[in-house]
Amino acid sequence: MNPRTQHRILDLHWYTPASFRLRLERKGFPFKAGQNINMGIPGGGINREYTVYSGEHDDFIDILVRQVQGGSLTPRLAALKPGDIVEVHGPYSRFMLPDPIPSGARFVFVATGTGVAPFHSMVKTLPKLDYLLVHGVRQKDETYDAGDYPAERYLPCFTREDAGFRGRVTDYLRAHPQGADAWYYVCGNRAMINDLYDLLRAQGVGGDHIMTEVFF
Ligand SMILES: Cc1cc2nc3c(=O)[nH]c(=O)nc-3n(C[C@H](O)[C@H](O)[C@H](O)COP(=O)(O)OP(=O)(O)OC[C@H]3O[C@@H](n4cnc5c(N)ncnc54)[C@H](O)[C@@H]3O)c2cc1C
Repeated sequence: MNPRTQHRILDLHWYTPASFRLRLERKGFPFKAGQNINMGIPGGGINREYTVYSGEHDDFIDILVRQVQGGSLTPRLAALKPGDIVEVHGPYSRFMLPDPIPSGARFVFVATGTGVAPFHSMVKTLPKLDYLLVHGVRQKDETYDAGDYPAERYLPCFTREDAGFRGRVTDYLRAHPQGADAWYYVCGNRAMINDLYDLLRAQGVGGDHIMTEVFF
């Protein structure tokens, strides 16, 4: 079992009034793109899971956090300053790409909100990956680092703004099926994952081609 390690905060970057990126010292912490860590404030008594947002080869660990109003941990994470310390345990999860990537494999990544974190890590780690990222957000500022993906590979679905495709990720994939041969990786809230799973099965996608990670 890996030991609990302490990491200094390097930077905190806000994307929206409620979501931010926490950058921590890497300190040689090992993980595979798609995996998550267990994080808390030393002595705070509350730990939560966060999927790593940065790539395997970066010399820092980025975490994308949505501050939950009245939440036990996220308001405390939001108040952290550079130099403060967090405690990290892990990595966990089997939500990873096949290793090696099968030749000719095409991936469809589907996320809502901060559920984009594992996919950002995967494409930063493997820039030559053949993928389409379908990202469900309320409005444009929740597309976070959209510029990190080639425009033709990033498809935001807006539920509150006419800034591109208007609707949910399930609406997009119902109207634009991506084929039964693709590998589907789905991350976010449970309701979206359940709906999408049913849709993909109805579109003929085998259960062995649908990987899911539930955030809440
Ligand atoms: C495997 C895994 C990976 C995760 N990775 C991330 C991540 O990369 N980034 C991240 O922000 N969260 C992530 N989460 C959620 C995270 O672990 C916490 O649940 C979240 O930060 C809330 O913590 P809290 O103590 O402030 O809220 P709590 O006091 O625990 O309140 C929890 C409530 O907040 C709501 N909630 C939880 N997460 C979110 C969210 N992201 N957006 C909107 N509402 C939410 C839910 O309704 C839940 O009932 C992950 C969860 C799991 C299981």
